[in-house]
Amino acid sequence: MEVIERTDLMQQKAEQLRLAGKVLGFVPTMGFFHEGHLELMRVAKKHCDVAIISIFVNPMQFGPKEDLTAYPRDLERDLAKAREVGVDITFVPTVDQMYPERFESRVSVEEVTKHLCGLSRPTHFDEVCTVVAKLFNITKPHLAVFGQKDYQQLTVISRMVRDLNMDLQILGVPTYREPDGLAMSSRNSYLNSEERKSALCLKKSMDLAQEMVGKGETRSATIKKAIEELVGKHPYTQIDYVSLCDPVTLDDVDTLRNETLLALAVRVGKTRLIDNCVLGEGEKR
Ligand code: AMP
Repeated sequence: MEVIERTDLMQQKAEQLRLAGKVLGFVPTMGFFHEGHLELMRVAKKHCDVAIISIFVNPMQFGPKEDLTAYPRDLERDLAKAREVGVDITFVPTVDQMYPERFESRVSVEEVTKHLCGLSRPTHFDEVCTVVAKLFNITKPHLAVFGQKDYQQLTVISRMVRDLNMDLQILGVPTYREPDGLAMSSRNSYLNSEERKSALCLKKSMDLAQEMVGKGETRSATIKKAIEELVGKHPYTQIDYVSLCDPVTLDDVDTLRNETLLALAVRVGKTRLIDNCVLGEGEKR
């Protein structure tokens, strides 16, 4: 596996591979790999000739009160894992490489960023779009793979790609979970053992909602109330949002339709966890 740190060298490499007729798959990450990350890499590898990943903890997308300095990092372990799953190139730029002096451009997606995580993280998605657009220009992929765990991110990136005629395909991969149902996340490493137990309230909320829908419930308010009660019974938790919304526009819905997205963000101790599922759909994971 090749490890590339400079943007110009990565760009040249990608161009050479394209000229040689290779199909390039790309997985952007912030590192500290778990099985969810590795699954995205396997998918990229399966669909493409060359699997490229990036490891970059983008300081721009963290708010002033967020966990940038505490964000878990272990580059050596990550590189070993990427090698094991057959990644061909890992791009590991420095902040200076990505944001040189006088950097002043931004990519902004306007509507789908106004909901869910966009409410409490107002500049987050502009920064995510900006860094992902840059990474696409640097790694030149034909296919980029993202996790459905970050549903809004996947929606926003897909919108950016469509709106700006970016010439690549976006693929979403179902959420990888721990055996007890907790969605894998680098941030799970912040949880102490008591918080880890409480963190299960997200998956339990989704199961409860699926059960209510299975019994014919269609009122969003009723489902939300039941979820608030369930989460409230778990110590150290605080709801950021519970949203029942349209899976494309992310606009809230009062009455459930054929496909309604349930998206949750809950603080467990100081750790903010998110999860989502499409109600009415069986659990496919
Ligand atoms: P991150 O390193 O958190 O920025 O995540 C990098 C990519 O991995 C994003 O596309 C995430 O949506 C995806 N991802 C994170 N957690 C999971 C998971 N549990 N299952 C599947 N994909 C995931």
